[in-house]
Amino acid sequence: MGATPTGAATHCPYCALQCGMTVGPGDGAAAPRVSPRDFPTNRGGLCQKGWTSAELLVSPARLTTPLVRDGGELRPASWEEALDLVARRIIELQAAHGRDAVAVFGGGGLTNEKAYLLGKFARVALRTSQIDYNGRFCMSSAAAAGGKAFGVDRGLPFPVTDLDGADAVLLVGANPAETMPPFTQHLRRAADAGGLIVVDPRRTPTAELAALHLQPAPGTDLALALGLLHAAVADGLVDEGYVAERTSGFEAAWRLAARWWPERVERVTGVSATDQRTAARLLARAESAYVLTARGTEQHASGVDTASAWINLALALGLPGRPGAGWGCLTGQGNGQGGREHGQKADQLPGYRKIDDPAARAHVAAVWGVDPDDLPGPGRSAYELLDALGTEQGPRALLLFGSNPVVSAPRAGHVADRLAALDLLVVADLVLSETAAGADVVLPVTQWAEEDGTMTNLEGRVLLRRRALHPPEGVRTDLEVLHGLARRLGQPAHAFPTDAETVFDELRRASAGGPSDYSGVTYQRLAGGEALHWPVPSVDHPGTPRLFLDAFAHPDGRARFVPVDHRGPEEAPDEDYPLVATTGRVLQHYQSGAQTRLVPELAAAVPENFVEVHPDTAARAGLADGAMATVTSRRGEVLARVRCVPSLRPDTVFLPFHFPGAQRANLLTNPALDPTSRMPEFKVCAVKLAPVPEA
Ligand code: SF4
Repeated sequence: MGATPTGAATHCPYCALQCGMTVGPGDGAAAPRVSPRDFPTNRGGLCQKGWTSAELLVSPARLTTPLVRDGGELRPASWEEALDLVARRIIELQAAHGRDAVAVFGGGGLTNEKAYLLGKFARVALRTSQIDYNGRFCMSSAAAAGGKAFGVDRGLPFPVTDLDGADAVLLVGANPAETMPPFTQHLRRAADAGGLIVVDPRRTPTAELAALHLQPAPGTDLALALGLLHAAVADGLVDEGYVAERTSGFEAAWRLAARWWPERVERVTGVSATDQRTAARLLARAESAYVLTARGTEQHASGVDTASAWINLALALGLPGRPGAGWGCLTGQGNGQGGREHGQKADQLPGYRKIDDPAARAHVAAVWGVDPDDLPGPGRSAYELLDALGTEQGPRALLLFGSNPVVSAPRAGHVADRLAALDLLVVADLVLSETAAGADVVLPVTQWAEEDGTMTNLEGRVLLRRRALHPPEGVRTDLEVLHGLARRLGQPAHAFPTDAETVFDELRRASAGGPSDYSGVTYQRLAGGEALHWPVPSVDHPGTPRLFLDAFAHPDGRARFVPVDHRGPEEAPDEDYPLVATTGRVLQHYQSGAQTRLVPELAAAVPENFVEVHPDTAARAGLADGAMATVTSRRGEVLARVRCVPSLRPDTVFLPFHFPGAQRANLLTNPALDPTSRMPEFKVCAVKLAPVPEA
């Protein structure tokens, strides 16, 4: 592998904080060297994942040649053989079963250019409606709730550094001390002022920093949000001037919240009425206050309503759209924000446009040089797409980029069965992930430091990642893969460029005039160090670091309260499955763990799955700390090592979801979907615990 001689300024390949770093050659045969770089989100900090991120660039597990299944086994093949095979099978399957027989599945870690070209590839080269991505499993509930309330959704509608001045921050279902540790420096003032409030069923490292930890039963935080709103109204904390001038719908939202007085909420959530009132007061009386939500809020069958309930609280206190205050969602995946804007979602076109909007279709079709009537309509959402694979009505082939659903999808055993039922599974990946291992064709692709591209971080800031190192011989970029397939499907070469900047320039035109307008963002401006937060509607526009200061994005300029009521999880504990399982992350691993499990230092730190259990609950199940247990739900059984955690609720167990095989937490999870966002209920399912039987 070669490298630039001096190292290049870039960003971490993992989470949405997109910490600034430099990457350059290591000594001799050593891995490339990563150093933290001063950037507003991380200010010179990196977490353990970031420090070790270069290891994967030289991992012996890297794929460097395409693989095709032959006689049941994967064998090396040339790029020509692999791409010819994929194109021929696509043509055959679409001829036999129609356009929607071929589906595409993307990822929230893909660059903006890849996400954009993947959506175009599906709609133009394949003309299939069947495309969605793994971000449906992450941020889709907050995206829908933000859109309803404000008219447009951007994770944080303000720069991360605005949090530095906060006296009070309410963090709901977010554990940044583990998932993005450098972020916690932005909470320091609030923590020092006694204004950091954390809502989480677990006493996480983030909760340890808080003055007030509200520990609701999993699946009850919508009720808790209603309780805080009730307390705010009852204690006269509502910003009535703001509500009257800048919002609509308060009365309808209040009619439902009025039934959730704090003592009633205490009975449902387990959070004391006193703590609810204290939290509401801390937020309302702070000079500078924020409400931030994350996956714990969203990954429910009521995820959109739950996010809406927290937004309602923020609106009642007059926070969104004010300097030094606001509501925001902490996105998770590296390009969790950009990944949802450029057209790899089932229901969207580039520029964050709706696919069923005739004006949006006409605009994007003109950029693509196709007839709007030839663009497919909305397709299935991520889980519904995976669930339909290989069925009579569903797709017969799947092309998968940047995702590992065998580990990360809900009801993962069933998803693996559906993938196995396909006539053709094609996976583009860096390594032989658990999903790639079952594919018919595997295409080895480049990684972050080996390619150009842009990412959009959690604050809507567009970042340029320049190629810093030569990729290993034999791998191609995802853009080259799409180009090679599109050409074989009859598309002209210029319609699927392989140069990232050329793709980005087309993305700019496709996004122009849309809610997330990138038309004024150029590689040149980004390389010059400009901080460009979308929308950036022209090349002389400075970008929009803070949204909604003058008006919200609804036509009347007002934010909307959305009336919501508490409803419990889809699956409650019962005699057979008496405990609630909730899933989440650990510091050392990222998403399905397909990358971080291959980094020796990270794998050694957390080598296997575990289940956190209250000591009394463990004792009742005949389990000691350190013993292996089976955790069983109606959908599957998982092996995990017991960690006794006295601070955990006795009715709750916790498992991270980064591990493969029989340790996959998602063998347990419930694919009940939110009716709007189609987000599965990862955060709550009913389980039982037992010792592993003696061999
Ligand atoms: Fe920063 Fe996230 Fe990378 Fe850690 S994983 S170094 S917090 S971007």
